[in-house]
Amino acid sequence: MKKTIYSPFFIILFLWLLCRPLPLKSQVIPAPEDILGFKIGADYHLINYTQAIDYLKKIASVSDRIKLMEMGKTTLGLPMYYAVISSAENLAKMDDYREIIKKLSLAKELSPEEAEKLSQQGKAIVYIDGGLHATECAPAQHLVQLAYDLVSAKDEKNLKILNEVICLLVFANPDGMNMVADWYQKNLGTPYEVSPLPFLYHYYAGHDNNRDSYISNLKETQNINRLVNQEWYPVILYNHHQTAPFPARIWIPPNSEPTNPNVHPLIVRWQNLIGSAMGAAFDAEGKEGAISRIVFDTWYPGYVTQVVDSHNIISILTETALYRYATPRFYTVQDFPPEYQDLTMAAFYPNPWKGGWWRLKDAVDYCLTASKAVLEVAAKYRKELLFNKYKMASDIMTRFQKEPPYAWIIPQNQIDPGSLAILLNRMILLGIEVYEAQEELSCDGISYPRGTLIIPMTQPFALFIKNMFEEQHYPDLRKYPDLWQGLVSSRKFEGAPIEAYDMMGWTLPYQFNVKVQAAYTPLSVRMTPIKKVILPAGKIEGSGAAAFLLDHHQNASFIAINRILKQKGKIAWAKKSFKSEGKNYPEGTIIASSISRNFMDNLAHQLNLNIQSCSSKPKVEVLEIKAPRVGIYQSWVAVEDEGWTRFILDEHEFNYKVLHDADIRAGNLAAEYDSIILPDHYSTDLIINGYPKGTMPPNYVGGLTINGVNNLKEFVRQGGTLIFMNTTCNLATGEFKPPVRNILEKARKDEFNCVGSILQAEFDLSHPIAYGLESQQPIVFADSCAFDIFPSFDQKATPRIIAKYAGDNLLLSGYIYGEKLIQNKAAIVEVPLGKGRLILLGFPVQYRAQPRGTFKLLFNSIYYGTVK
Ligand SMILES: [Zn+2]
Repeated sequence: MKKTIYSPFFIILFLWLLCRPLPLKSQVIPAPEDILGFKIGADYHLINYTQAIDYLKKIASVSDRIKLMEMGKTTLGLPMYYAVISSAENLAKMDDYREIIKKLSLAKELSPEEAEKLSQQGKAIVYIDGGLHATECAPAQHLVQLAYDLVSAKDEKNLKILNEVICLLVFANPDGMNMVADWYQKNLGTPYEVSPLPFLYHYYAGHDNNRDSYISNLKETQNINRLVNQEWYPVILYNHHQTAPFPARIWIPPNSEPTNPNVHPLIVRWQNLIGSAMGAAFDAEGKEGAISRIVFDTWYPGYVTQVVDSHNIISILTETALYRYATPRFYTVQDFPPEYQDLTMAAFYPNPWKGGWWRLKDAVDYCLTASKAVLEVAAKYRKELLFNKYKMASDIMTRFQKEPPYAWIIPQNQIDPGSLAILLNRMILLGIEVYEAQEELSCDGISYPRGTLIIPMTQPFALFIKNMFEEQHYPDLRKYPDLWQGLVSSRKFEGAPIEAYDMMGWTLPYQFNVKVQAAYTPLSVRMTPIKKVILPAGKIEGSGAAAFLLDHHQNASFIAINRILKQKGKIAWAKKSFKSEGKNYPEGTIIASSISRNFMDNLAHQLNLNIQSCSSKPKVEVLEIKAPRVGIYQSWVAVEDEGWTRFILDEHEFNYKVLHDADIRAGNLAAEYDSIILPDHYSTDLIINGYPKGTMPPNYVGGLTINGVNNLKEFVRQGGTLIFMNTTCNLATGEFKPPVRNILEKARKDEFNCVGSILQAEFDLSHPIAYGLESQQPIVFADSCAFDIFPSFDQKATPRIIAKYAGDNLLLSGYIYGEKLIQNKAAIVEVPLGKGRLILLGFPVQYRAQPRGTFKLLFNSIYYGTVK
């Protein structure tokens, strides 16, 4: 019998085989079609968010070029994943590269030589997203293909990208991506295959999720802003969209005018350079129809792109051509607008599209070409782009050492400290440094106590804070025709002024009605940075529990009212100013009773409210407020304003029911509701008629109808309160025939023009709807209303003016043309009708959930509906 002898060599080999780590990831990368069963962009096929993430997880399990990370949850509770893609070597040192780019972006205590060295060592972080606007399907679909192309790449061009760049791929609206894919799937092959969604593709914001960036009301915006401004500091942020100006196949930078002045000029130069690189890539690949310099300007900073510009991140917006979902469409030149039919070559449209089929696959391919062009630029200019981060930050900090504003000082006596805390904490989320003075200070002749909050401008993202806090002076583009007119522009500039793509003025301290003071002389004060603005703890002052007094000026008081009413406590509003236990209280003071001191004590703590307790009920005439039964109308022609209204109602803990057309057509509304809100809508005609038959699945066609309008009239006659928001007031003046007319309803653009600005309004503080406001206050005006009131013999039916536009100094920020038309005109009106009333809120008091200073006009209107 042969004895087996194991040599030491074999024993060691055997042990090594046992103990060695598992083999490196196999690197056999399944293509999307291997998993999904169809190619990305295939006709009639959309993948949803869940499928996209499942696929990315699969390739992450076999490749060391991709990591999947979570940035937080969506509004509807999904985990929000993003993919980090680079070479395996770079990903192994990912945290080191994050640290390098952070140092360069913040540029603190860093010499140019050190910055130069870090730029050599660092990698270019590039953020690319898709799907923010969920019905613009191609961008989110293309992310999956882009991930595969990069992770599986073997060619020199892509390997260079992987070596030089760390790429972040972000699904910007996961809830919406699921909603749209489900809706399309449901209707595929039916006559409604390309019908629009009958609800918002973001639960609260719909399309306005790209108007939220500077204020971060939405969870998704908060997640993205944290990722960009606190974690990754990318050199380029590329935000994909899909609504090219027809017949162009993609819109790429350079942008249109006007240009927001609060950006470093290098941002604009690099946007132009990257746009040109994209254009060259399209023409090299024979992809026609890339256009620039029209439609999309950079004025308004509600967009993702314009927020990052003032954070020294080069933003790139593109708009690929859209048809609907994954259904293809054929176009001929005869479908084009006349000026495009002769296919004229132009500097910013050198390769006109000639028509033909347009499929989701084409749009996905255009997105891929564009994304890869951006990545190539980033790879090629990695070092320059990294050094520019440092350069821009240092330039900006040097600038504000020499010129005002040197800082923004936040005085301590604010009318609504809770709103101020929200504003400043959102700025901190966006990477802004807020400090607390450690000693008394004096600036421009004003003294401020120790503890005053200060935002110095010697910080890297100072231009963002300037953009948010200063007043906007929108340029009248007719003055600069040569500066902005491109050859391909079809905009006429004679006559009417040129509107911005979105708002012209947004100054946040005005919207929040908080006071901030620019420092015009340099500050010299000891101060320490704070991570979060925390309000002083609230408390109950005084003894007794017969009544508790709350301040009507504070938005948190409305949460308190709702909680007290839920607890079966009683709420009343003082109709006059009064004295209680030696102190003066203004009209509107909120008086709570039949509620335990313990409950109120908890409320004071939770909501940071100072509450006064009284041993006896104050002797003052009051309005008794009951728990309101609220309905909000939700049209199947979905509008953002309805979503934002729900957002602030949820935030302030109102109970409400959503009413659809059928509910209102069914009538008997007074039995169930005290107040019904009719949000701002695209047109009163769409409210009444809705989608025509045959354009939508049968459940979603038709609007309120005249029958529904009559039921609303009956609701008011029986004592209901109907609240009309902004232009929906035209439904009131048109259908309810009050002695009120909106003088702007038919105004021509060359007579009056104010698409979105901050104006000064005056309020009648003796009216319950204006309780808690100041006699003069800034408001948002967005294509809004101004009312003429007709004389009436019926005193009981005479409208009452609650707010009017200021006579002098009407424009606070932005632009207005033809202001004489609305000076001193009514802005909010109560119209008695039967036992109830119409409330015409002629300007958007809750516009995109931003103007916290005027939210209470809606809240007061709702409660007022319980006063019969
Ligand atoms: Zn879009």
